[in-house]
Amino acid sequence: MSTKIKFLQKGGEMGALTRAYDWNVTAIGNPESWSQSHLTSVNMMLTSRFPMLVFWGKELITFYNDAFRPSLGNDGKHPGSLGQPGHISWAESWPVIGPMIHDIMQGGDAVWFEDQKLPLYRDGKMGYAYWTYSFSPLLDDDGSVGGVLVTCSETTKAVESTAKVAASEARFRGLVQQAPVAIFVLHGKEMIFEAANDLMLKMIGKDNSVLGKPYNEAIPEIKGQPFEALLDQVYTSGKKFTSGEMLAKLEHKGELTEGYYKFTYQPVTSSEGQTEGIICVAVDVTEQVNARKAAEKHATELTVLANTLRQSEQRLQSMLDTMAEGVVIVDTAGKPTYVNPMAQKIMGVNEAGFTNRDYNDSKWQNFRLDGSILPAEDHPVYVVLHTGLAISDQEVAIMLPSGEKIYISINAAPLTDEKGNITGGIATFSDVTHRRMLSQQKDDFISVASHELKTPVTSLKASLQVLSRMKENTSPEMRQRFIVQANKSLDKLSGLISELLDTNRISQGQLRLNKSTFTIAGTIHDCCDHIRVTGTHQVILTGNADQQVYADERKIDQVLVNFVNNAVKYAPESKEIVIAVERLAGSLKVSVTDQGPGIPAEKKRHLFERYYRADYSGVQFSGLGLGLFISAEIIKKHGGEIGVESELGKGSTFWFTLPVVG
Ligand code: ADP
Repeated sequence: MSTKIKFLQKGGEMGALTRAYDWNVTAIGNPESWSQSHLTSVNMMLTSRFPMLVFWGKELITFYNDAFRPSLGNDGKHPGSLGQPGHISWAESWPVIGPMIHDIMQGGDAVWFEDQKLPLYRDGKMGYAYWTYSFSPLLDDDGSVGGVLVTCSETTKAVESTAKVAASEARFRGLVQQAPVAIFVLHGKEMIFEAANDLMLKMIGKDNSVLGKPYNEAIPEIKGQPFEALLDQVYTSGKKFTSGEMLAKLEHKGELTEGYYKFTYQPVTSSEGQTEGIICVAVDVTEQVNARKAAEKHATELTVLANTLRQSEQRLQSMLDTMAEGVVIVDTAGKPTYVNPMAQKIMGVNEAGFTNRDYNDSKWQNFRLDGSILPAEDHPVYVVLHTGLAISDQEVAIMLPSGEKIYISINAAPLTDEKGNITGGIATFSDVTHRRMLSQQKDDFISVASHELKTPVTSLKASLQVLSRMKENTSPEMRQRFIVQANKSLDKLSGLISELLDTNRISQGQLRLNKSTFTIAGTIHDCCDHIRVTGTHQVILTGNADQQVYADERKIDQVLVNFVNNAVKYAPESKEIVIAVERLAGSLKVSVTDQGPGIPAEKKRHLFERYYRADYSGVQFSGLGLGLFISAEIIKKHGGEIGVESELGKGSTFWFTLPVVG
């Protein structure tokens, strides 16, 4: 081995190959002829642990070291490229590197390239490899550029893995961007906005400028809202959080707007389990929540409305139920669909009794006031349903199923729908039987009163006529008889007029009492004087009449006289009239009993009413039907009670009480 070759004694596999190589066949010849610089350069290259090549001489003969050798793979340039001129050994990349190497050979400066992609034939096929390399001149012994040192490292793997990371990042961003839901990704403890898709940006009212900013800078309005604390919580705990519908106030175009969101904060953890970021996936549910809220509000409003309706219905119902008038609502056929309690009371039948009944019903005959039958087509409800006109205060008489005849005053009106079509009718009515009876009684009273007044007037007139026609020779006794007769007629007249005046006073509330203390025995005695005179009846006094009362003596006398006169008048056959005085607790009771015909039960309760005359026997008794009415008012005014006990055929007892103090 030559000394020069010995010099190249280290360098591993490539050192051995270089030493063994037959350099005589190359342009640079045997190593013995190589300059020192050449040898030093090759030696330095071979022993370097950094991948290197040396191109030497005009032909740019190739040397490379062990560190470079793996870049050539198997089945490629190794070891064939050793000792080959550069344009042959690196034929595939020569078009790129060749000119630069020639430039350096011409004295050009060293050059440096990073991650340069160059074609490369290795492992039996053409491919590409990335290189970070420098070309620097190697000076020969004479100072000229003898070769080029290529220091290089293949960065294919690094470049490819960087490219892979970039590609995967791009894929990730693409995924985020194209996701059908709003997503943002926060990275690191500061929670920097790493990615956010358009949906998310739109949702939070921001643009791309949020990327790279910490979330609390990107969305400052989040401060104090629940999301802020939740993000921290997820980052610290490393536990996923899924929300329900949450209210968020986010700034959109300078305005804080309220919205509802459902979202998930998913922590991103490293292989060591350390939280590195958070992925947020959110859905805007504002519309659904608002729609639901509107529906809930609507439902609440409906409930309120329904309650109000029910309340007003209840009010209406209780009004109808408690009304003092009868109310009947009918359908278009006139059949009742509602009958209030008062209507049932007036008619004396329950609600069911109204079913299937109409104004045409023969069972419930209706009459006009003159007593003639009211034809169906004249019935107020029929008229209302067929004409649509309202009817007010029409009086008709009705024969109830019980056989009783009552008078009612009807108001009726049609019920219409919103288009004005008649859907039925409503009739309200009140029982005016009593009113009618009173007016009837008044009519009767006028005729009775006229008759009653006329009788004494006629008698008085007759007495006066006889007296005026009497001759001088008429006996004084005869004259006296007519004068007495005239006086009687006058008394009768003044009595009737007094009753009328008293009644008038009572109805105007002007009945006044002139009270004093007196013994009832005296009053009883006085009131019976006239009977003792006529001697028709025997008056019997029972009980202790020596009792004092504090009352209006004249008026109490008026009551007693009325009782006794009635006994005489209505019980002419009765021989005895018993006047009883009874001391009760706190009152004195005085009663007048006859053995007359008595009074039927159903008439008893009317006896003390104004104008009432129980003309049951058909016998005409004179009277205005006012005596007992006036008596009752007098006794009531004294704070006492008045009443009658009677049985048909067994006589009557009229009584009154007066309160007694002590
Ligand atoms: P009048 O006697 O002027 O008709 P009253 O008010 O005194 O009026 O009496 C009312 C009615 O009571 C009478 O019409 C009569 O039918 C009835 N009545 C009163 N007293 C008696 C009696 N003692 N017995 C039977 N009926 C009586």
